[in-house]
Amino acid sequence: MAILEILKYPDPGLERVSAAVENFDDALRGFIADLEETMRAGPGGVGIAAPQVGRFIRVAIVDVSGKPKIEHHGRLVLVNPEIIAYDGFAKGREGCMSVPDYTGNVIRAERITVEYFNELGEKHSVEASGFEARAIQHELDHLEGLLFLDRLVSRRSDLFRRKVYK
Ligand SMILES: [Zn+2]
Repeated sequence: MAILEILKYPDPGLERVSAAVENFDDALRGFIADLEETMRAGPGGVGIAAPQVGRFIRVAIVDVSGKPKIEHHGRLVLVNPEIIAYDGFAKGREGCMSVPDYTGNVIRAERITVEYFNELGEKHSVEASGFEARAIQHELDHLEGLLFLDRLVSRRSDLFRRKVYK
């Protein structure tokens, strides 16, 4: 296992659209293990997407189970994920390991249904809400080359500089 280097805004790699995974093999699972270790080593650490470490494939990991008092599905490895239903809207604060100096308020769907494959190539679907739904939407944006900065309603009122990432 290894901790991978995180691309930081404005690295142009963060704007690339990632390609679908075709082979669910040991190389993929090894990469996912490294990606997860990188996520857990980072501050915040509730999600990460492959393009953040310069691998432009449709893989993201979300695990919000460390947050108190929220509904969640534990560790989610999302390969070739697709959000097939959206419901409601909520504004909330987001941060990103690729944008370490800022947080921002972003409007996301309150509830989503996402279909995906796990690292073994098994198809799953989950209904997520609240903070977990937000984290999934944030990570899936990375697969489209989007950052939360692209979704701010107003940079003047919805972008905040942070002193320490925690
Ligand atoms: Zn991010």
